[in-house]
Amino acid sequence: MSEEVICRRLVDRVAVVTGGGSGIGLATSRRLASEGAHVVVADIDEARAKEVATEVNGIAVQCDVTDQESVEAMFRTAFDTYGRIDIAFNNAGISPPSDASILDTDLEAWRLVQEVNVTSVYYCCKAVIPYMKKQGRGSIINTASFVAVMGAATSQISYSASKGAVLSMSRELGVEFAKDGIRVNALCPGPVDTPLLQELFAKDEVAAQRRMVHVPMGRFAQANELAAAVAFLASDDAGYVTANTFLVDGGISSAYTTPI
Ligand code: NAD
Repeated sequence: MSEEVICRRLVDRVAVVTGGGSGIGLATSRRLASEGAHVVVADIDEARAKEVATEVNGIAVQCDVTDQESVEAMFRTAFDTYGRIDIAFNNAGISPPSDASILDTDLEAWRLVQEVNVTSVYYCCKAVIPYMKKQGRGSIINTASFVAVMGAATSQISYSASKGAVLSMSRELGVEFAKDGIRVNALCPGPVDTPLLQELFAKDEVAAQRRMVHVPMGRFAQANELAAAVAFLASDDAGYVTANTFLVDGGISSAYTTPI
């Protein structure tokens, strides 16, 4: 997909992006800014957050999304700086190697993934919805995954459970706050060509092929293709889209067989 900016749907909107320092969050910070938004780049990695914020002419906030006070302070900073919060992209997440088959995943690994991937989304939504309710508008996009709707034999049990929870939480919030002008959608990416994924599959060609055979397009997503989906969901173009399972998965979840 072209990097060229084709629209300016978010002029003067205020967007908070968690995990904005890398991967999908980085691409989305760039895309939202290119469409005119003021972007608050929130990440546990302060140096990365600052670098990205400088690039997109926004502000950086060091934030640990597993810490409720840190999350509240982050949204407060966003509001105090720009006077409103229109878009919350609750995206930070992890998939550590300690999370695998249920038979090998201990409680500590399970809990870590639940904290970073789901409890964080609870904190973020709980903190931002009151601002949006007062404004009478807002768009929340929570990053789930295609594994929220499909099972994998190459299990990451806590990760899959966490993304299922993000999906159903987003659906419920979308319904509950629909008449407050707040839209809540779950972004469900397929595998995205991030440094993490490249490193994993460069090391293990068999593991890469095992997955690629299920992708109708025969390639992983580019982060900017996810960013484009977030920009759509954030914008008024998606005015009637809420409580949605927004799959950007190259057709994986619809495929029985794939093209040879
Ligand atoms: P990434 O590792 O490139 O970026 C994640 C960012 O989150 C990093 O900058 C990291 O510092 C930050 N982060 C981690 N823990 C944090 C914490 N406690 N508080 C604040 N920030 C924290 O990952 P990515 O591939 O861009 O993934 C982003 C989201 O997309 C995640 O929720 C992930 O589960 C989801 N996702 C990714 C893929 C994929 O193939 N990459 C597929 C489906 C879903």
